[in-house]
Amino acid sequence: APAVVWFRDDLRVSDNPALREAADSGRPVIAVYVLDDSGDTGRPLGGASRWWLHHSLAALHASLVKRGASLLLRHGDAAEEVADVVRRSGAGLLTMSRRYNRGEREQDDRAVRAAEQAGAEVSLHTAALLHEPGEVLNGDGERFSVFSPFFRALTAKGAPREPLPAPAALRGWPGPIETEELADLGLLPTEPDWSAGLGETWTPGEKGAHHRLEEFLAHRLAHYADGRDLPAAEVTSRLSPSLKFGEISPYQLWHRVQQADVPAEVRTKFLTELGWREFDYDLLDAHPDLDTVNVHRGFDAFPWADVDDEVLAAWQQGRTGVPLVDAGMRQLWHTGWMHNRVRMVTASFLIKNLRYDWRVGERWFWDTLVDADPANNAAQWQWVAGSGADAAPFFRVFNPVLQGQKFDPKGEYIATWVPELRHLDAKGRHEPWTVPSTLDADAPAYPAPIVDLKASRQEALDAYQRMRG
Ligand code: FAD
Repeated sequence: APAVVWFRDDLRVSDNPALREAADSGRPVIAVYVLDDSGDTGRPLGGASRWWLHHSLAALHASLVKRGASLLLRHGDAAEEVADVVRRSGAGLLTMSRRYNRGEREQDDRAVRAAEQAGAEVSLHTAALLHEPGEVLNGDGERFSVFSPFFRALTAKGAPREPLPAPAALRGWPGPIETEELADLGLLPTEPDWSAGLGETWTPGEKGAHHRLEEFLAHRLAHYADGRDLPAAEVTSRLSPSLKFGEISPYQLWHRVQQADVPAEVRTKFLTELGWREFDYDLLDAHPDLDTVNVHRGFDAFPWADVDDEVLAAWQQGRTGVPLVDAGMRQLWHTGWMHNRVRMVTASFLIKNLRYDWRVGERWFWDTLVDADPANNAAQWQWVAGSGADAAPFFRVFNPVLQGQKFDPKGEYIATWVPELRHLDAKGRHEPWTVPSTLDADAPAYPAPIVDLKASRQEALDAYQRMRG
């Protein structure tokens, strides 16, 4: 009887315990992925993530074919589809990696029951996280609400397990089973096709992820501690979409980085960021409605402003007249990714200067980020809003001009994404409204700020006081 491996957010053949178990069982392997966009198990993937998924599935299929198996594709209720594959093949084993959304867990429970009823053994593996949520606890047996002690406790558990090698060969399953064509899943945008910038920027798939990791270790990691906040320096790993889809595992990353020939502080700095990902998943576990409900319920009473569609479109499209904000939003639209510092600044601008509910911005990021992640995106938006765990206090309002001057001193990042300002010097790139418009009459027009930064900051602080009072 064959083994069914249900791939989800673990689209890799190396360090994949579920695939490994199936391969080591000596059974023929049926690998399956089910696109379930019903919304029953959580929010359906956004557009940029669907683009990534398409290419990552193609890469996984190729990699499985090389090893003697292939990837079966289905579309529909994932628990039912997987149970159908188990029944039709008479499988004796079903393996998968754990998932952490409430809806996904419920679906997994259904799939497990159905597979067991069909006579298959089932096993679930920890593969996407270094720890199971709820396992890292303080001395009183409670979850941490602050990151630093959480991370200390996580690392005190010792080094994560070593990554597993990919199975060299798999026994394929010869029996006929229905599969969809990848193209028929409809994951790619059609009209308009906005994905050109994504295609120029990324190589989805396991091989692409490892290539990015090696390049990061060779050229960027040494500058990470000093440069990670500088968007023009481009020294971060850009592995976030690969981690999201599980093309690379945190175990692989952890051990490769630990072996790198850089000072220990630099390694720790990077691994701490990986720790935030763990912390955010713990938070999602404790707050299953993290993308819709404030962790600090006091924020339920926050007097958000009504959304003006034109103002929101200006933010989404990078036409706010505030250079660093526009640069970030355009980088996001063009590449599906934005530098972390600029994510904080663009989010703060929406939440504090426009006083729009953080959920409005979270949804836009969800649709446009290739790394849109149910834990990280929601947790980080709540972090900026001040409603989250260990969050920045609401009253700490980023000034996007000062942030630009500090983290993009020459305005290089701005010049890359806002060509209208390229001809200006650094001061002008950060504060184009101080430059007489006659300076370069041929340059395309750049809008005046849609909001007064100083006055809107004060209004945000007043609104915060109203909430607290
Ligand atoms: P690196 O600096 O190379 O870090 C390595 C890995 O650590 C990242 O790939 C990521 O998995 C993790 N990581 C890094 N920073 C953070 C962080 N602050 N919080 C949690 N994990 C982190 N990250 C996502 O993966 N998905 C999201 O949807 C997402 N939405 C965000 C929304 C906002 C408003 C903010 C402020 C941050 C968000 N982040 C999100 C966190 C962070 O911006 C990205 O993980 C990071 O920019 C990815 O780039 P990198 O892979 O080069 O990061």
